[in-house]
Amino acid sequence: MIQHVVMDMDGVLYRGDHPLPGAVDTLNALWTRGVRVAFLTNNASRHREELAARLSRLGFACAAGDVWGSAYIAALYLSHHAPGARVFLVGTAGMRREMEEAGIAVVPTHEGATHVVAGLDMTITYEKLSHAHYAICNGAAFIATNLDATFPDGPTTTTPGGGALVAALTTSTGVTPLVMGKPEPAGLSLIAASWGVTADDMAVVGDRLDTDIAAANAFGCLSVLVLTGVSTRAEAERAGAAEKPGVVLESLVDLPAVLEGRCRANSALDDPNQAQGGLSIA
Ligand SMILES: [Mg+2]
Repeated sequence: MIQHVVMDMDGVLYRGDHPLPGAVDTLNALWTRGVRVAFLTNNASRHREELAARLSRLGFACAAGDVWGSAYIAALYLSHHAPGARVFLVGTAGMRREMEEAGIAVVPTHEGATHVVAGLDMTITYEKLSHAHYAICNGAAFIATNLDATFPDGPTTTTPGGGALVAALTTSTGVTPLVMGKPEPAGLSLIAASWGVTADDMAVVGDRLDTDIAAANAFGCLSVLVLTGVSTRAEAERAGAAEKPGVVLESLVDLPAVLEGRCRANSALDDPNQAQGGLSIA
């Protein structure tokens, strides 16, 4: 039985301000059985405590230590790989707090910056972009928390995401960033290390083929697509190997059966008998 699960949040546990049917009970059942659960999100604008508080308000009783946002992942990455880094941030107060708690020095301008970390920043200015641009042109390493094109600001509307700001800097400098968020597997790698397990012992659950499933496949663990969010069964059927889910579920409620090995991975997704039921396997 798989005892370590990494979950995406929006589209897996909740949509908007509403938990998905059965999701709270499923999480509680997993915890009762001793399954360890980490919540991995590309959201870089909020500190882990804010992300955990939101989950708790929705009924998912998690701790801040269970939540891995891409700002935290960037901070951990820097503390492991670049101790002594001096970072110019394009990001929010939550991102700054993650850096400072990891012991990363945040600098106010491009001067002396060894790294630029860029993500969603609702107070972006041309001056801030220019400092990031100068730093990268002067040789600072360029790290993106995520490449999300949009940020959902309502049930049907979006605003520019962190990826849109990263794209401005990629265009102006010609430098491609190292990306911390999904679909890159950096976050999964750090979570696995914190648990002391390998990819074989883990499953990743998400609602997007191009981020959640791609990251899981790149890392080499079981990838589970739930159909309660963005990606559809038809898209899963059409997906190439990099984004092909190992398992497709109608909802999170079916996850315990997968973890217990009561359904197989890697059988045909297009088997009509499988596709009719709540469980189907890619
Ligand atoms: Mg999602």
